[in-house]
Amino acid sequence: MIQIEQVTKRYPAKQREREVIALQEIDLQIEKGDIFGIVGYSGAGKSTLLRLLNGLEKPTSGSIHVNGKKLAVLSDGELRVLRQKIGMIFQHYHLLWSRTVRENVAFPLEIAGKTKREIEQRTEELLRRVGLWERKDAYPSELSGGQKQRVGIARALANDPFLLLCDEATSALDPETTTSILQLIKEINQEMGITVALITHEMSVVDAICNKVAVMETGSIVELGEVKQVFREP
Ligand code: ADP
Ligand code: ADP
Repeated sequence: MIQIEQVTKRYPAKQREREVIALQEIDLQIEKGDIFGIVGYSGAGKSTLLRLLNGLEKPTSGSIHVNGKKLAVLSDGELRVLRQKIGMIFQHYHLLWSRTVRENVAFPLEIAGKTKREIEQRTEELLRRVGLWERKDAYPSELSGGQKQRVGIARALANDPFLLLCDEATSALDPETTTSILQLIKEINQEMGITVALITHEMSVVDAICNKVAVMETGSIVELGEVKQVFREP
């Protein structure tokens, strides 16, 4: 589903700052059905990799194929269509604070041009799926961290994505809430057949739900493979 080949990303030198090599000759494959963990300390290059995956930035060199299409040759319009099929969730949720739970989930459906009836049905279905239908008229500020992330997940699923990208999605949550959100992500992967790629600085997150892992250090992948192999004691 995703092929990353020899990808390097450099940020050019600015005044008094040296050039940064955020990613160096990365090779990575994410297959349909994976829950793929990308783990590493701050500054390892995880967020840069995620921005390349959803086409927000372009690699300096190397290629990225998503569903057989090379991202670099897609037009802005084609990229926008592709991005509608990639759901994203974030550490700080990125919800619209002046809109209700229901309106937050409806938002990507409105952008995609769905009818009022389709939006109502899909929004209800999604909010029931994440266990938040009862809070449909609440505002994000009235919700706990875990509930906000459930709204984020429902919104990310709105347009039937083939891929869910998770950016430190549980890093702001307590351990118990983290477990329940990771469980929900796993169910989404298994029941809806959605491939998941997540970035995290916590090994425990990878251990809890991922089948594959790439461990990153200063722009390079230092370990790669099945979680049960990579984490196995020698
Ligand atoms: P992580 O997500 O693992 O913390 P990042 O991908 O954010 O790592 O950063 C990798 C490296 O690239 C860091 O040295 C960071 O400072 C640098 N970097 C990230 N984005 C930019 C940018 N837009 N301009 C310049 N340097 C950047
Ligand atoms: P948590 O439950 O994890 O503590 P917060 O409610 O503090 O999460 O929100 C996380 C992020 O959202 C923070 O970056 C915060 O600044 C922002 N945020 C929270 N409430 C609002 C609001 N009413 N309007 C705009 N941004 C907000």
